[in-house]
Amino acid sequence: MITKFYSNKDEIYNTYDKNDLGASYSKESTTFKVWAPAASQVMLKLYATGSSLEEGATVLAIKQMTLDPQTGVWSKTVQGDMHGIYYTYVIQNGNVSSETQDVYSKATGVNSTRSMVVDLERTNPEGWDNDKHILVDEQTKAIVWEIHVRDFSYSNTSGVSKEHRGTYLAFTEENTKIPNTNCPTCLNYLKELGITHVQLNPVFDFGSVDETTGVEYNWGYDPVNYNVPEGSYSTDPYHGEVRIKEFKQMVKALHDNGIGVIMDVVYNHMYSGDDSCFEKTVPNYYFRKQGNRYLNSSGCGNVTASEKIMFRKFMIDSVRYWAEEYHIDGFRFDLMACHDYETMNLIREELDKLDKRILMYGEPWTADAGDNGIAGDASCTKENARKLSCRIGMFNDDMRNGIKGGSDDDTKGYIQGSNFDTYKILSGMLGASSDTFGRWAKRPSQCVTYASAHDNLTLWDKLLKSNWCHNYDTTDPAIIDQNKLSATFIFMSLGIPFMLAGEEFARTKHGDHNSYKSPDNINAIDWTRTIEYKELVDYYKGLIDIRKNFPLLTDATEEAVHKTYMTYNGKVIAGTMANVDAKDGEYKFMAIVMNNTDQKHPFELKSKYELPNRWYVIADHDSASGEAIRAFDNKMEIRPHSAFVIVDADSYDKIHNITDTSVIPYYKVL
Ligand code: CA
Repeated sequence: MITKFYSNKDEIYNTYDKNDLGASYSKESTTFKVWAPAASQVMLKLYATGSSLEEGATVLAIKQMTLDPQTGVWSKTVQGDMHGIYYTYVIQNGNVSSETQDVYSKATGVNSTRSMVVDLERTNPEGWDNDKHILVDEQTKAIVWEIHVRDFSYSNTSGVSKEHRGTYLAFTEENTKIPNTNCPTCLNYLKELGITHVQLNPVFDFGSVDETTGVEYNWGYDPVNYNVPEGSYSTDPYHGEVRIKEFKQMVKALHDNGIGVIMDVVYNHMYSGDDSCFEKTVPNYYFRKQGNRYLNSSGCGNVTASEKIMFRKFMIDSVRYWAEEYHIDGFRFDLMACHDYETMNLIREELDKLDKRILMYGEPWTADAGDNGIAGDASCTKENARKLSCRIGMFNDDMRNGIKGGSDDDTKGYIQGSNFDTYKILSGMLGASSDTFGRWAKRPSQCVTYASAHDNLTLWDKLLKSNWCHNYDTTDPAIIDQNKLSATFIFMSLGIPFMLAGEEFARTKHGDHNSYKSPDNINAIDWTRTIEYKELVDYYKGLIDIRKNFPLLTDATEEAVHKTYMTYNGKVIAGTMANVDAKDGEYKFMAIVMNNTDQKHPFELKSKYELPNRWYVIADHDSASGEAIRAFDNKMEIRPHSAFVIVDADSYDKIHNITDTSVIPYYKVL
């Protein structure tokens, strides 16, 4: 393993720190700038069309660019209104001449081999100037729903118009329903679910789908142009401005309905190393290499070099560009441990200049740590969480495994009855910020709490596998109960709750654990499952609602951890949270109790604060309505395979104006 860490030093090249790389447009002229310090010559090539496939592919002009040796930047200003003109650079590095699109492309033609000059003003949909970010005061107030653009609406069960299915514009269709029903789908459905943010699988330009046909399916974790929207999700991939406008229309429609947009960004590797605009522009610079071999901690054939000044700058510039130009509200960093923590902290600082509430989190792992090319202590792993801003979150895979067992195998976690890794759940419920139960986070804002994501089996498929059930449409109550237990852990923990789209309606990929290029019939959302599993959808909705109404759950400070008392007696988990400074309309105490056994068990709530002796259950085995289901004193039994959410009765009576408490049935024992 290479342990050298090239922190903030580029031994070979002069670098550039201004924000005008790429094509800077004005009505009168456009200035092109490209950092190519190793080049002996750079030519700017102007085209009428975005690809060689189209008519009129004739070259309009070829212009010599001029080097500023102080910075390594080649530039050329061309007079006239250049909007819609396509361009490439022809770069001579040593005896190799390469034609490439611009590293800083804002727009491209189909399949992205030519960049396009764009007047971004002209891509703004109506009302864009008044469009506002959707932001939450604390990262932990976000509730994230992970969705792939194509999966969202591709199926005809989405009720989206045929020409918009699978595209950005599907997100703009209002009041869509499952055909011949009144059941909401897509945007219409999300408004009711109560999530705060969607996280979109890659929507930057990627290479695995031919945009001229759009036939194949891919998740898109194979970047080609980081600052350009993917063309296959637009209604016209040939004209570079169309996808930009449609992307903005998608963002605006979500924002108009109170839903924020998080981008999944994959700066850790590219579709191809050798064929990338980065390698063609400055050979042997932007990627980590050992001789001619690309290092491969991304598991995808190459890994980029965040520690190099100009790639670090690119990442910072790119994230800022999406946040500013496209009003993106948060960023999820793929394989974040391929990046060094210094770069991630600089990105946080840059976003803070726009708004401190823009979300940041990522995967605290690589695909192969041994081939990462940066020292372990520089990498964004959980072990190094303390070196990162407390507003950069990390997926808590420990808790995930504790909840459900291994991601793809038939092992069991707590919800299926195993107690092997329960301490990981206790730690996770406290946002991985508790010294008592295991800690890697500085505070809960650093901990993303989840049971399923696009990788691996869906939660439903994992439950089926670990229960030896082969019917993906089963409504076996035992399995649904396990799903409910999992949901209770996710939404009733400190930290940032996250779920794969459809986890709340038993989404199945029929056991496909890696569906990145599987057909649409595996990946696309089948909206009819929202009918079949309505009970589960309602349970998720109820938990989301409860979470939004109990401030301590979304308190991201360390103090929130100290106000929570966890107990575990080998069978039942209980967490009692004291909202000691409860304001009017807030509960003073809330408790979460879990039983994963076949028997009912007594439990007792504990706290370092004096506890009341009257409580109401507001979520149980059957429902999570937030309404008081039953009353009890401070000793009670919990049913088998159940989760209880409990609040103190005095607060509840006050909030709900209840004077006659006998309306709520009292049970000592179930
Ligand atoms: Ca593409």
